[in-house]
Amino acid sequence: MIKLLNQAQQVLQETFGFPSFRQGQKEIIEKVLASKNTLGIMPTGGGKSLCYQIPALVLPGITIVISPLIALMKDQVDGLHAAGVEATYINSSLTNTELTERMENLKSGAYKLLFVAPERFESNSFLSMIQQLPISLIAFDEAHCISQWGHDFRPSYRSIITRIKQIQQETTVMALTATATKEVAEDISRLLEIEADNVVFTTFARDNLSFHVVKGENKRDFLLTYLKQRSQESGIIYASTRKEVDQIYEFLKKQSYSVAKYHAGLSEEERRHAQEQFIVDNTSIMVATNAFGMGIDKSNVRYVIHYNLPRNIESYYQEAGRAGRDGEESDCYLLFAPQDVHVHKFLIEEGQLPVEQKTNEYTRLQQMVQYCHTETCLHQYFLTYFGDHAQLEACGKCTNCMDNRERVDITTEAQMIFSCVKRMDEKFGVTLIAQVLKGSRNKRLMELGFQRLSTYGLMRNQREKDIADLIHYLLSGDYLKLTDGQYPVVQLAPKAIGILKGEEKVYKKMTVMKEAPSEDNLALFESLRELRKEIADGEGVPPYIVFSDASLKEMSRYYPTDEITMLKIKGVGKAKFERYGLAFIEAIQKYVEQHDITPTSQPTNHLTNSSSSTKVIEDLDGKPSHIYTYDLYQNGMTIDEIAKQRGVTAVTVQKHIIRSVQEGHSISYEDIFNEQEEKMILEARDQSDENRLKPIKEALPETISYFMIQMVLLKNGYLK
Ligand code: ADP
Ligand code: MG
Ligand code: ZN
Repeated sequence: MIKLLNQAQQVLQETFGFPSFRQGQKEIIEKVLASKNTLGIMPTGGGKSLCYQIPALVLPGITIVISPLIALMKDQVDGLHAAGVEATYINSSLTNTELTERMENLKSGAYKLLFVAPERFESNSFLSMIQQLPISLIAFDEAHCISQWGHDFRPSYRSIITRIKQIQQETTVMALTATATKEVAEDISRLLEIEADNVVFTTFARDNLSFHVVKGENKRDFLLTYLKQRSQESGIIYASTRKEVDQIYEFLKKQSYSVAKYHAGLSEEERRHAQEQFIVDNTSIMVATNAFGMGIDKSNVRYVIHYNLPRNIESYYQEAGRAGRDGEESDCYLLFAPQDVHVHKFLIEEGQLPVEQKTNEYTRLQQMVQYCHTETCLHQYFLTYFGDHAQLEACGKCTNCMDNRERVDITTEAQMIFSCVKRMDEKFGVTLIAQVLKGSRNKRLMELGFQRLSTYGLMRNQREKDIADLIHYLLSGDYLKLTDGQYPVVQLAPKAIGILKGEEKVYKKMTVMKEAPSEDNLALFESLRELRKEIADGEGVPPYIVFSDASLKEMSRYYPTDEITMLKIKGVGKAKFERYGLAFIEAIQKYVEQHDITPTSQPTNHLTNSSSSTKVIEDLDGKPSHIYTYDLYQNGMTIDEIAKQRGVTAVTVQKHIIRSVQEGHSISYEDIFNEQEEKMILEARDQSDENRLKPIKEALPETISYFMIQMVLLKNGYLK
């Protein structure tokens, strides 16, 4: 035994050229050399391959390595050849002649290692062939594929086990994986008859990785900002769908980044090429689905960005762990957006999983979501998750460790949420609870009668999204708990009791917000951003070239719908207005109409009345903009003609007219609507209990415009 160990040490140095073992390697190899079935759990990049490669060279017979990735077998074998190790693989890519040849060579003892895909064991001829070989070791790489609790269950992996037991030989079995959950480890141990003593865990800590969660930011903007500083380095961007991969790829290509893409929709040749280019540093960015990366040993990946939420912590830690295998400092970013959670739920629901497994998937998704909401050290979150308590200190460099915002006492808000959860009988999900607290008029909420709860509207002055975030925060802090399943329900956890009784306090890190935009503003801001992106994409420039975020924010605060007002927005000069102004005015106009923001309530007034209105006087014969419009109208020009002449939309012209009439100027109503139309509009108004335009408009024929409705209301004294 000592002799074998010495040999192992020698192989490490002479064949592989490493001076010493890494954590866990020696222990695993020792057990295998002592003929014990062994499970090795090491993080990605920890050095699992060596754990079977070295015994393969030290033990007398052949080692069979079962690996899920046909595509990588050749690389693995090539790598071993380069180190002077005799190895080969058998998989579906071989021709019959190649297959027979390799089988013959195997029999004559030409190889120490044989890589096979699990499916191979379904073939009887393969089985009877290996029966005749001296097999000393069978190694399951990526062994979590055996377990249905693993994140990549493959039935063929599991069915091998019975086939292997038919091989009547003294063969040692070993399993290697980066997945460390208790269920998976137990499952593997049970199936492969591995004793608890022979399960080797190494620490999961990856000290050279900094973990970050990015929330509430535009993902594309984040990419641009981040990549700008990283253009010379290698990184992977993971997205969840092929379509998304294609889009991000195109987007980055347009910005002249050196980028490749990889997903299952590409041909094998395209994938191979992309992978190769990335590995040899010909392209620096790889945009890929999770089909990319397993088993790829590129050590200088400096960052891994997850553009979408991964479906569970195991997958995430494995994928993110592809950064920094060389031990150098590297970044792992997760760009969180709540809608990604829905996508996963949909996929779980669509998947043909048995109920028990579905529930399990939901739970794991939930743990992934909690990662995005926790305020404790992200690195520690993983270690706790994987049951690795070796390293208890905070990492000092993740999003949360770096977060030096103030700790704010949120006990009162927490109490409001808890009591709302209780009043809703602990039977509803995050969204509905947030809506009740916000005082939303959502239909379902009304039907359930929740508008009568004492907690209804209790947090009216907060955004619904912020309330939902707060609930998630309380979930991640174990004050609240979620039930399993597709529609998880929020319930109080024991920790909430002390808070409700006022015995304990809850804190949360928060930036004290200056002038928070209202929810409506935010929605407009979002749509302006989209518009900006479209324009920018069309012109092949980054969005900020079109307008800065600051400009868009001002637009969503002041709703500029004409040239004058638009020119007052920060960052909107004459040239930019000419290029982009109208498109933005139109978008704002549309928003204003859809949301019934009536002209009088528009903050634009605030702007037009502001001190810088001298310009209005110069440009428009000394008249305010709306009066100038009004005069043109009174002089017989049509609304469309005025719009064209002034470079504004028709709706803006109408707004100007309305405003002028409101200010006391006269108008001939009969040019705008007839008696019949007036009657219809007034009836529709009487029937809708609110003085809002939209319900009135919807109750009337298409031919009745918003402008007609507003003018009727104005004439009859309903629009002040
Ligand atoms: P895993 O399969 O656990 O993700 P690999 O077996 O692919 O990891 O190894 C990751 C990297 O670590 C490889 O580049 C490998 O050459 C290197 N490595 C493995 N063991 C050692 C060691 N003892 N000393 C130095 N480097 C090692
Ligand atoms: Mg590996
Ligand atoms: Zn940390």
